[in-house]
Amino acid sequence: MAGDGTIVLALEGQLRLDDQPALHQAVELTRRTPGGRLLVLAGRPEGQRLRGPHQRRLEAQALASLHARLAAPDVPLLHTPQHTTAAALASLRSEVAPTAVLTCAESRLFADWPIARERFPRVFADFRRGLQRAPEPPLPPPDLAGLEPPQPMRAAAAGDPRSAFPFSGDEPTALARLQHFFFDTDGLRSYKATRNGLVGTEFSSKLSPFLAIGSLSVRRIWQEVLRYQELQGADEGSEWMKQELLWREFFLWSEQRHGAAFHAPGGIQNRPPDWVAERERFVRWTRGDSGHPLIDAQLNELLTTGYLSNRGRQWVASHFVNELRLPWTWGARFFEWMLIDAHPALNTGNWAYLAGVGSDPRSFGGRPRRFDLERQVRLYDPEEMHRRRWS
Ligand SMILES: Cc1cc2nc3c(=O)[nH]c(=O)nc-3n(C[C@H](O)[C@H](O)[C@H](O)COP(=O)(O)OP(=O)(O)OC[C@H]3O[C@@H](n4cnc5c(N)ncnc54)[C@H](O)[C@@H]3O)c2cc1C
Repeated sequence: MAGDGTIVLALEGQLRLDDQPALHQAVELTRRTPGGRLLVLAGRPEGQRLRGPHQRRLEAQALASLHARLAAPDVPLLHTPQHTTAAALASLRSEVAPTAVLTCAESRLFADWPIARERFPRVFADFRRGLQRAPEPPLPPPDLAGLEPPQPMRAAAAGDPRSAFPFSGDEPTALARLQHFFFDTDGLRSYKATRNGLVGTEFSSKLSPFLAIGSLSVRRIWQEVLRYQELQGADEGSEWMKQELLWREFFLWSEQRHGAAFHAPGGIQNRPPDWVAERERFVRWTRGDSGHPLIDAQLNELLTTGYLSNRGRQWVASHFVNELRLPWTWGARFFEWMLIDAHPALNTGNWAYLAGVGSDPRSFGGRPRRFDLERQVRLYDPEEMHRRRWS
């Protein structure tokens, strides 16, 4: 046997025990290896951007919980935030000689191209229609003898009481939130009607921050939608949830399909720039001073809590591109730093869509879609609750 019997599991930013195929393999291998011991490594995933302040807080909560739950069956978790797995192992060379190193992968509904790479469509409707396989089911957590049942920690340690995401980032809280929104309240049933809301914890699932730091598996969410549909029947709300999860999947695979073009200013349409690179205006915007009170309220919520509703994000991006006429990539990079659920593929996919350089079918050969803010507020926040709360 090569090595000293240590089986290293590199989490690569996937901070959970549920639905982790590599964890199952690592546990099995540890049991089979004479003198085997499992070491879990939470390093900095290769190529990962720096996380912003809100996401870092969430990540620390998820790690603390994982640490405590792994400590029960005596599995050490080593956190090396400055180092990639390779660098961390190199620095540990004198103490650990791994027999095997296994690596966790980001949670996706499909393990391999759901539509062949060379035929991968540019727009979501074709993606959805073209799917010929069902998403793959999740794996339960492995049996780590002695592992205590997780205790949900619902409320976050600190934060603004107005936050739409007042939760801790750990896995038990993620699973508790899933149960709460899908089964304990009527959240999922009414999701189609409420999902464009702007204020509070209940208008949408609030699962994205957990997905972004890997404390929840998207296959687990999909499985729970199926379980809900078995119990209650397939209703509009649960079908719409599936659709949104497929949007996530579409952007993840699109990024892989288009490579650098996906994040480039001209996007997958390779359009010439049509903006004014005015730094002063951008700096004011990053401080919550956009020149429009509705947008300022959105930015204030983003800066304070890191969360913003989907509708709010659309308003902000549309205003940024159409009214301020600033480069969309600047707005996207700022969101990537500030959002508590920041995810490069999902963030860029949505910004590029709204900037008219991405996968919005209406924008091919035309202008980006523009949100009429006065009309939007009449539709989605007639009492201006959001503006009053965040001004
Ligand atoms: C400009 C802009 C930037 C965005 N940046 C991000 C980002 O960095 N990270 C991120 O997770 N989402 C991003 N989104 C998508 C969306 O706004 C959030 O996923 C959603 O608001 C998260 O809240 P929720 O979990 O309550 O969503 P729900 O409405 O409950 O949706 C359930 C899940 O479906 C997925 N989903 C929903 N809408 C979208 C969408 N438009 N695109 C892709 N997946 C979606 C998410 O995984 C979400 O958790 C962005 C949207 C816009 C317009």
